[in-house]
Amino acid sequence: MSQYWSPAVRELTPYVPGEQPRERVIKLNTNENPYPPAPGVSTALRDYSTDHLRLYPDPTSRALRETLAATYGVNVEETFVGNGSDEVLAFAFQAFFCHGAPLDVPSITYSFYPVYANLYGVTLRKHPLNAKWEVDMDALASVTESSGVIFANPNAPTGHAHSLEAIETLLKRVTDRVVLIDEAYVDFGAESAVELVGRYPNLLVTGTFSKSRSLAGLRLGYAIGSQELIEGLQRVKDSFNSYPVDSLASLVGIEALKDKQHFDACRNNVITTRERTRQRLEQSGFEVLPSKANFILAQHPKFAGAQLFAGLRERGILVRHFNTDMLNNFLRITIGTDDEMDSLVEALEAICR
Ligand SMILES: *Cc1c(COP(=O)(O)O)cnc(C)c1O
Repeated sequence: MSQYWSPAVRELTPYVPGEQPRERVIKLNTNENPYPPAPGVSTALRDYSTDHLRLYPDPTSRALRETLAATYGVNVEETFVGNGSDEVLAFAFQAFFCHGAPLDVPSITYSFYPVYANLYGVTLRKHPLNAKWEVDMDALASVTESSGVIFANPNAPTGHAHSLEAIETLLKRVTDRVVLIDEAYVDFGAESAVELVGRYPNLLVTGTFSKSRSLAGLRLGYAIGSQELIEGLQRVKDSFNSYPVDSLASLVGIEALKDKQHFDACRNNVITTRERTRQRLEQSGFEVLPSKANFILAQHPKFAGAQLFAGLRERGILVRHFNTDMLNNFLRITIGTDDEMDSLVEALEAICR
């Protein structure tokens, strides 16, 4: 606490990211991709003329958005890009959810949403997951007096994904407010709702280059939605920072989007390794929730999550442990390379022996 802080800042509870260690560890704690970005990214960086840095970037990020639009089969006016999808989400909170009525969320979902709710003075109405650890879509749709709906699909940190059909059923019921589907993990085996954007003007889909495109260090995220929603986001952006996406990031993002072959190879590797890891952990007595993301949520009937977390840490393996009532006993484990996951399984077996 400082006497210089505003009352609002005193009241904040900031998001706590997974740590970025300095020593060499097997890092399975922040859902980064174990594979490098597309080869075209290196070429573009090598050929980049630093003279571009003298000028401000294009405030509308037109070239990047055109490539994004072509990649996802939408109009460029239906796309928005920002400095990481966390920033896009922050703009969405301001643009769509800041008005009196509570925002409907699952009780377990991406832990940045409560942070933004707190920052922007939005009340959250939390709906428990069902017995299968799935988002209760019926509960989200059954409310009145709501400012909107937000959740991640696949959800974090459970990894469960709803089908496109289930998302459309929700959209048929919720028509008077924004439904934001955060698709940070969609490329690891789930169905994207982007194809519904043309038919549901209140649907906003967000995504990131951090995970499936191996560019977490670049900070690039996007939203796809109807033109009126995108214009709402632009109004917030242009009232905060007209140039959130720098010219280097735009160029790199375009290269990453263009290389479908590399993208598919990396995500298929992650999916194969995920299923292999799940099997091995189950053979070692763990319960692993089915996941369509690049992480798994696992627990052991006899060992507490905190104990496993500490044991792995001692062995130089970082995973994520959430100290909340519901998730206390679990570990959230990012899918790394096969070698990294072998080390993880062996370490867990040693700890449980
Ligand atoms: C990682 C993550 C993000 C943030 O991605 P950035 O683009 O790196 O800011 C957003 N939503 C969910 C659910 C995530 O897991």
